[in-house]
Amino acid sequence: MATGNINVSVENIFPLIKKFLYSDHEIFLRELISNATDATLKLKHLTSIGEVGVAYGNPVIEIKVDKEGKKLHIIDQGIGMSSDEIEKYINEVAFSGAEEFLEKYKDSAKDSGIIGHFGLGFYSAFMVAEKVEIISKSYNEDTPAAHWTCDGSPQFTLEAHDKTARGTEIILHIAEDSTEFLEDSRINELLVKYNKFMPIPIKFGTKEETLPLPEDAAEDAKPETVTIDNIINNPTPAWTKQPADLEDEDYKKFYRELYPAQFEEPLFNIHLNVDYPFNLTGILYFPKLGNDMNMQKDRIQLYQNQVYVTDNVEGIVPEFLTMLKGVIDSPDIPLNVSRSYLQADGNVKKIASYITRKVADKLSSLFKSNREDFEAKWNDIKIVIEYGMLSEDKFFEKSEKFTLYPSVDGTYYTYAELHEKIKDVQTDKDGKTIILYASNKDQQHSYIEAAKEKGYEVLLLDSPIVPHLIQKLESSKENISFARVDTDHIDNIIKKDEEAISKLSDEEKESLKTTLTEVVPAEKYTVQLEAMDSSASPFMITQPEFMRRMKEMQQSGGGGMFGNFPEMYN
Ligand code: ADP
Ligand code: MG
Repeated sequence: MATGNINVSVENIFPLIKKFLYSDHEIFLRELISNATDATLKLKHLTSIGEVGVAYGNPVIEIKVDKEGKKLHIIDQGIGMSSDEIEKYINEVAFSGAEEFLEKYKDSAKDSGIIGHFGLGFYSAFMVAEKVEIISKSYNEDTPAAHWTCDGSPQFTLEAHDKTARGTEIILHIAEDSTEFLEDSRINELLVKYNKFMPIPIKFGTKEETLPLPEDAAEDAKPETVTIDNIINNPTPAWTKQPADLEDEDYKKFYRELYPAQFEEPLFNIHLNVDYPFNLTGILYFPKLGNDMNMQKDRIQLYQNQVYVTDNVEGIVPEFLTMLKGVIDSPDIPLNVSRSYLQADGNVKKIASYITRKVADKLSSLFKSNREDFEAKWNDIKIVIEYGMLSEDKFFEKSEKFTLYPSVDGTYYTYAELHEKIKDVQTDKDGKTIILYASNKDQQHSYIEAAKEKGYEVLLLDSPIVPHLIQKLESSKENISFARVDTDHIDNIIKKDEEAISKLSDEEKESLKTTLTEVVPAEKYTVQLEAMDSSASPFMITQPEFMRRMKEMQQSGGGGMFGNFPEMYN
């Protein structure tokens, strides 16, 4: 039996690790399962390149709760460690065996999916355990098994053990303040949160399964129930597969796996898959959004090598796309040791612009391949597109191809089509094209009707960010101006037909005008009796466009869910 000191320069690093390294104690399990996964993936890699003579088989990782003994066991059938290796990898804090492995097998192992790299994960066990044991048997058959014990002080013991099965068992003696981790339900919750898509099967207890009856079963036959391993994860989630191998139904199935409580089906998906200049895979889904800009609780999840990291993807995914759902997985996203905070880094910016481009390309291709379907979905996706147009110039440029402008009558125009249609009819004296729109079909009904009677096209732009979008469009497109149907701007349009006949006599007009001007504040509104001559309404009250816009901007405060829109104040 050997005893010795753990090789760290700080006299007592454990209290430090315990308190400060990871703010979230629960991640110890993710770290230990990541190590067990790495150990198994290393074995898989070594057998695949013929470096070792053992068969890989079907290794699983097992988690066992021993409530009476106050112990939690994490057992793998991976590569194992000799006592020398334990000295090297475990006793040297911040020396990563995962990094060493990747360095050694650089060319062949770069896609092996090895997770670890800080050489600190193992010690997170001491956040919840007062004592930790490692019992390990190397894949190398001549090497005896080893047993390491440490009570959280820098002293450890290392001795021989009689374990014969290949692999490692980590035993945590759970501390008094962490007994929650002896509850099956709590462990299950953690496994589902962090390990649901990890690449090696993870067993937690057993479950009963009822076998389907064979087709020729007798009428009174009872279905047979068997006890099987309870495997908590899907080792090959859809995003790790090739798009060509997946059907529409597979994507929908994965969506349900990802968000079991979500009943609404996604509208479409975008499969991300790039390995240069950074590695990133994932699937994004467009949910049905309508005009709802509120963040849903089912957010995009970030993984690294199939290990769940966070559902706060701020900074990686452009803000306007955080309304989407799905997963992204990238080992190239730099995270600090607690993996919870992103650093602003070149790769991250490239990732954000890659995602933006992929989303724009997908929208373009959906529009091109099936315009009818795209139009049908428009109302549910427009908020993301409009917000993207406002916040990302690259996206704004690309959006020209697929952004739709629906009329109040349900015709969908692209910008080019709209412009072509109205350019000769709706111009003001300066030759500017006036785009008319309504924001509420019911409230602005009579104005809409009046404009239509004059042969004008009225759009229905009803999402909450439309005032900002209009500002953006007016400043980036030549010679156009938007006017809401109930504003006085509409009069700037040069009427082709000046000789409209009023339904009211001059006398009637005068008395109506007197009555109306008494009740309508003149500094805010204009009363027009002639404007609607050819329509069913006898008069119209309009508000100067600039006043209406000012009020709208103040109301939306340029803020809300997504912070400020600085461009609107330019
Ligand atoms: P990292 O995973 O970042 O390398 P850790 O502190 O999590 O750092 O683990 C340190 C090293 O200990 C690993 O790289 C690995 O070499 C070794 N190790 C830890 N757990 C196991 C295990 N279950 N089986 C084999 N080796 C392990
Ligand atoms: Mg690790």
